Amino acid sequence: MNNFEYARAVDVADAVRLIAGDPKAKFIAGGTNLIDLMKEDVERPAKLIDISRLPLTKVEEIAGGGVRIGALVPNSDLAYHPLIAARYPLLASAILAGASQQLRNMASTGGNLLQRTRCAYFYDTVTPCNKREAGSGCSAINGLNRGHAILGTSAACIATHPSDMCVALAALDAKVHVTGVSGERVIAFADFHRLPGDTPHLDTNLRPDEIVTEVELPAKGFAANYSYLKIRDRLSYAFALVSIAAAMTLDGNTIKEARLALGGVAHKPWRNTAAEAALAGRAPDGTAFAQAADLLLRDAKSYAHNGFKINLAHRGIVRALTQTAQATPQSQSVKKIR
Ligand SMILES: Cc1cc2nc3c(=O)[nH]c(=O)nc-3n(C[C@H](O)[C@H](O)[C@H](O)COP(=O)(O)OP(=O)(O)OC[C@H]3O[C@@H](n4cnc5c(N)ncnc54)[C@H](O)[C@@H]3O)c2cc1C
Ligand code: SF4
Repeated sequence: MNNFEYARAVDVADAVRLIAGDPKAKFIAGGTNLIDLMKEDVERPAKLIDISRLPLTKVEEIAGGGVRIGALVPNSDLAYHPLIAARYPLLASAILAGASQQLRNMASTGGNLLQRTRCAYFYDTVTPCNKREAGSGCSAINGLNRGHAILGTSAACIATHPSDMCVALAALDAKVHVTGVSGERVIAFADFHRLPGDTPHLDTNLRPDEIVTEVELPAKGFAANYSYLKIRDRLSYAFALVSIAAAMTLDGNTIKEARLALGGVAHKPWRNTAAEAALAGRAPDGTAFAQAADLLLRDAKSYAHNGFKINLAHRGIVRALTQTAQATPQSQSVKKIR
């Protein structure tokens, strides 16, 4: 174990001051990802800044009908919150598809956004990995890449983003509120996570001195027609091979608006607005859904062991959209379970 200092931030301004003062410091919230990475010697922060007691624990309605979620709201509290269960069941379903109850009790909203890839080479410090050590190479491209990305990859990295919650947040068009030395700013969810390009060590566009304070959901929650379909090697406690967040509004037998985002296929939650636009105005049938899947996967590229993901994603998209149109989601919302 490497030595590190510990400091507890008393408020957001203090957290920003502490992180800005030490480029080797890291925030710790629930610790469910960071502590594992420290134990494996992947992350070596010189200082941990504990933000777990900051007053960022509210889920509240805002003007215009949207909802703001504090960055320290635990994943469990968020999934079971009455506002989320009733109005954003897609988000509740995605959260409950992830990790285990104990982990969800500890894991925070902000930490879920910032969790790091589960690429096995990233965790294995004796193998080259451009994300862990810039310029060292990528062991996955010609290695065991069954779980790796099929969209938006680069010659430097083919890792996937592991979050379930973030796939729903991408489909719902969430915004991320952050605070840094130069003040507050709001980042559209689509711009929060990055593709690997030639800088795979950067997962997000959060600046080094910034803290995530809130996630904002717009008023539209697609509570009637949604589905979060997660396909994994075992039924629980496993990351997605492919996951699909689908939502739509219907006018009789016509799709008015559709949302479609995938997890387990790219370095960031993969929302495709062209496929969504192609669904608008169509009847909600298998032909329209297959065409949307074709469009979304048009540029998919596989490696030695993950070619199955393209077909799996195609079938998953059609299935999730069918469940969405029929209002028979893969997982019932918390409200319906109760
Ligand atoms: C065995 C296991 C199985 C799992 N399965 C799943 C799964 O199926 N699906 C899924 O989605 N997730 C899964 N997870 C991941 C889990 O959801 C994340 O570990 C968790 O969400 C991280 O939240 P945290 O608060 O514990 O973050 P921490 O570990 O405290 O922090 C993670 C990172 O976020 C940074 N950070 C935290 N909060 C902030 C903030 N407010 N602003 C800026 N930076 C911040 C930290 O500096 C750190 O770099 C699993 C985890 C484990 C251990
Ligand atoms: S895919 Fe990315 S995280 Fe995995 S070994 Fe290659 S560079 Fe590292």
